[in-house]
Amino acid sequence: MNHDIKGGQAGRGPAAGQQDQGTGGSVLTYRLCPRCLRAVPGHSAEHFCVNDGEKLLDACPACHAPILSPYAQFCAGCGQRFFTAGVRKRPGSS
Ligand SMILES: [Zn+2]
Ligand SMILES: [Zn+2]
Repeated sequence: MNHDIKGGQAGRGPAAGQQDQGTGGSVLTYRLCPRCLRAVPGHSAEHFCVNDGEKLLDACPACHAPILSPYAQFCAGCGQRFFTAGVRKRPGSS
């Protein structure tokens, strides 16, 4: 009997691939200008609006919920209005 014993290399993959595929842990947030409602991604370097110099909101000023939509005008968590424009008073014309 001549057993030919080969080197016991059962299929062991060289790489036990452990790749964290998107576990949905990172949520995309935005910053909003409260004056002109310009939106920039949360990872952007902009912290002030380039249009009017307003400080961008990176969260709801009332409940600090993150801003999840670049089109948001109101907080999804508490309904706080993000923009401050539009409250200009018209001088009474009489
Ligand atoms: Zn602005
Ligand atoms: Zn809020």
